[in-house]
Amino acid sequence: MSILVYIEHAEGKVKKTSLEAVSFANALAAKTGEGEVVALALGTIGQDELASVGKAGASKVLHGSDDRLTAGVIQAHASAVAQAFEKVGAKTVVLAKSSLGDAVAARLAIKINAALVSNVVELPDTSAGYKVKRSIFTGKAFAETEVTTENKILAIKKNAVDLKTDGGDATVETFDVSLSDADFASKITSTERATGEVLLPEADIVVSGGRGLKGPENWGMIEDLAKTLGAATGCSKPVSDIGWRPHHEHVGQTGVKVAPSLYIAIGISGAIQHLAGVNSSKCIVVVNKDPEAPFFKAADYGIVGDAFEVVPKLNEALKAE
Ligand code: FAD
Repeated sequence: MSILVYIEHAEGKVKKTSLEAVSFANALAAKTGEGEVVALALGTIGQDELASVGKAGASKVLHGSDDRLTAGVIQAHASAVAQAFEKVGAKTVVLAKSSLGDAVAARLAIKINAALVSNVVELPDTSAGYKVKRSIFTGKAFAETEVTTENKILAIKKNAVDLKTDGGDATVETFDVSLSDADFASKITSTERATGEVLLPEADIVVSGGRGLKGPENWGMIEDLAKTLGAATGCSKPVSDIGWRPHHEHVGQTGVKVAPSLYIAIGISGAIQHLAGVNSSKCIVVVNKDPEAPFFKAADYGIVGDAFEVVPKLNEALKAE
């Protein structure tokens, strides 16, 4: 028996969220005795990169290298995962909660007759039945879901799991996926980045500014800091509403929801609607001149001070590192 992990990759690299899913599966296998962790990668990606998935706890990686699978063809991916599921005799599929993961998991659930639980934050409680804790209401609450089907799909919330890094290399095995025309009923024919910058929803570090920055002419220091850190830039809703920044940077309940390792909020008050988009961040740093700003309650680190003094100094210190 095995646990199957569907892994995503972009630009030649396995996504960190997928490595978190492998780490989760590794701990789950140790808990439930479901045997080894087998990962499935689809499309064009290097063998060495796939072998390194072993560090997160997979003993084997099946590689469906058919080039037609590279562009995230959802139906075809769901078919491939179902075939791998059968091949390795799994009862559980683990994957990262993401747009592609959600789309694949929903189709897969029907194909393999499985319960699907999304936004999972910790290992299931198997002491009586199979109970899974998941995050709901944009991270403001948790729900416990009881799963009664034999086959299960668990979609893991970003940053909910500690990454395992001490495993050995995985063996990589070619996996021949049987695909039909129906698997390609719709497909992405090309993708292109809208900007050369780091993409906000995917970013590992986000530097975000609010109305405290007074005007668009002051965004240079936010961009400079983001550049130093290799970060994406974000903003609060009023900032994009007034037109200081583009709408695709608006973070929050009604904007982009981010889950970076580091979110730096500068001159943002921390209204509940903004927090709804950032509360899955691993570490939040707040810079605000008002010590009573609500954002400090959600912060891991806070700097009470004027952004116009703090941010350039912070940037200089980071550059000197
Ligand atoms: P402000 O509330 O004006 O706060 C500015 C902050 O900057 C203050 O805390 C101030 O102390 C600080 N400051 C001022 N000068 C400086 C300085 N020199 N240095 C350092 N700090 C300084 N908002 C979102 O962001 N995202 C959403 O998705 C969103 N959705 C919404 C949905 C609904 C239905 C509603 C009603 C509201 C929504 N909002 C959303 C708006 C939200 O309620 C807040 O109004 C908004 O987040 C406030 O933006 P802000 O913090 O940039 O501005």
